[in-house]
Amino acid sequence: MLPYATDGEVEAALGRTMTWAEAAWFRYSAATPDYCLNCHHIIIFLVVYTLAPLPLALLDLWAPAITLPYKLQPRVQLSPADFIRCYVHTVRVFLLAMGPVQLLSYPAVKMVGIWTGLPLPSVGKTVAQMVVYLLVDDYLGYWLHRLMHTKWGYEKIHHVHHEFMAPIGYVGPYAHWADELIFGIPPFIGPALVPCHMTTFWLWSVIRHLALMDAHIGFDFPLNPTKFIPFYGGAPHHDYHHRVGGKSKCNFSTVFTFCDYLYGTAEGYRYHKASLAKGRCNS
Ligand SMILES: [Zn+2]
Ligand SMILES: [Zn+2]
Repeated sequence: MLPYATDGEVEAALGRTMTWAEAAWFRYSAATPDYCLNCHHIIIFLVVYTLAPLPLALLDLWAPAITLPYKLQPRVQLSPADFIRCYVHTVRVFLLAMGPVQLLSYPAVKMVGIWTGLPLPSVGKTVAQMVVYLLVDDYLGYWLHRLMHTKWGYEKIHHVHHEFMAPIGYVGPYAHWADELIFGIPPFIGPALVPCHMTTFWLWSVIRHLALMDAHIGFDFPLNPTKFIPFYGGAPHHDYHHRVGGKSKCNFSTVFTFCDYLYGTAEGYRYHKASLAKGRCNS
């Protein structure tokens, strides 16, 4: 909630004219309590989760011949019932586990210094914060994921996420409720270490969910723009983790690849890639 009533008051405080983005933010947030702005994360998840994987899911269901050449596990074809089961489970678990956390998280969000006022952060600052958040999330997520692949972690919790050995975008957040809560911690550590504006916090939420779904799309498209991001693992990297299943001892990072290379958990995948390349040479 902003302590200004008119555009003039804001511009007097800023000492300049508002940008269009600042004017839009002022109009949207001026009379909205910060608690409600933070609760937007629930809507962001539902919208991104519902819409982002949808085009590829429909294409995969209705025109599999088009997508088949790019499919990482072409022998597996999920049914519409599989898609619906995955979607319904994830939304239910999110609303029952992460939803209440989001509703109660505002004191923590305020305590770490996430703010809603003006001016808005610059593009450069926002990009730098995104890079920090991605790296922190990936590093902590790597170690939590390894923990989830211990006998206890896998059998009690993480096996639910691995029910899909050939993942699709909707499998990204498909998990046991405890898995969702545990893996909900690393994305918050970056903003806690480097506090940001609420709009950046929302953007981080969108990017993090998109990256998670991209890692699970089950396709390797040659023109996927993420291929140009250094050390980005994407779908081929994480798909192999699902293909191996519960016995998987490699590819624990979801976004980047450097943790797996640094800590020696990329050997199986390296061998797999070499075998594929050899097969292509011989054919
Ligand atoms: Zn796993
Ligand atoms: Zn996964």
